[in-house]
Amino acid sequence: MSDNLPDLFAHNRHWAAQVERDRPGFFTSLVKQQTPKYMWIGCSDSRVPANQITGLEPGEVFVHRNVANIVVHSDLNALSAIQFAVERLKVQHIMVVGHYGCSGVQAALEGARIGIADNWLRHIQDVRDRHRVLLESVPAESRANALCELNVAEQVVNVAVSTVMVDAWSRGQDVTIHGWAFGVHDGLLQDLGITANNTKPLETTYKACVQRIRYKWTGNGNGHANGNGNDHGAQQNAEVTKEA
Ligand SMILES: [Zn+2]
Repeated sequence: MSDNLPDLFAHNRHWAAQVERDRPGFFTSLVKQQTPKYMWIGCSDSRVPANQITGLEPGEVFVHRNVANIVVHSDLNALSAIQFAVERLKVQHIMVVGHYGCSGVQAALEGARIGIADNWLRHIQDVRDRHRVLLESVPAESRANALCELNVAEQVVNVAVSTVMVDAWSRGQDVTIHGWAFGVHDGLLQDLGITANNTKPLETTYKACVQRIRYKWTGNGNGHANGNGNDHGAQQNAEVTKEA
């Protein structure tokens, strides 16, 4: 691992030369266009680099990253990136990718005070609070992993109900949103099975995903280790998705 900046430039020159040797004209063709099929919305965590994980080349994936892969309805940065990807680049797939061992998710779960990021992570605390009953039924050591997956499900919904996606689907544009989770511990991606492409009701897809997360982490399809009735979270979110 390099700890000085000149090394980074040296590595860069080596990489550029290697690519040009292997595929002459690679960079000149990149200059002419980018036509990625994929948009990746992931965490800023240095252990989760979109291209390396998926084996995609420069030019093949349009990336937006922030702390804990959150898509907030009023975040002009994320919305602009999604709009650019969908309307200009015509990506076919948007993947929201959380990762296990996410410090942002862990901090939100614990209510840790970091600083200004607390306000950003508040969005994950909202997810935590929405799924309080489910999370309480998950063993403490797995709770952050469950919240990581629930956060992905919520952010897929947030992308799906954005004006950009509502408009794209109303035009008949073929774009599918996926929810994935990455294992820093094993390097593997998992599809959480929450896929939105306007062909089936988002509410149904969302509820099924939450149910799978519940079953996965509690082994209880009804999700209530304490057996106390309704899933407040699913109900609340169903209202959110209906508004869309
Ligand atoms: Zn993270």
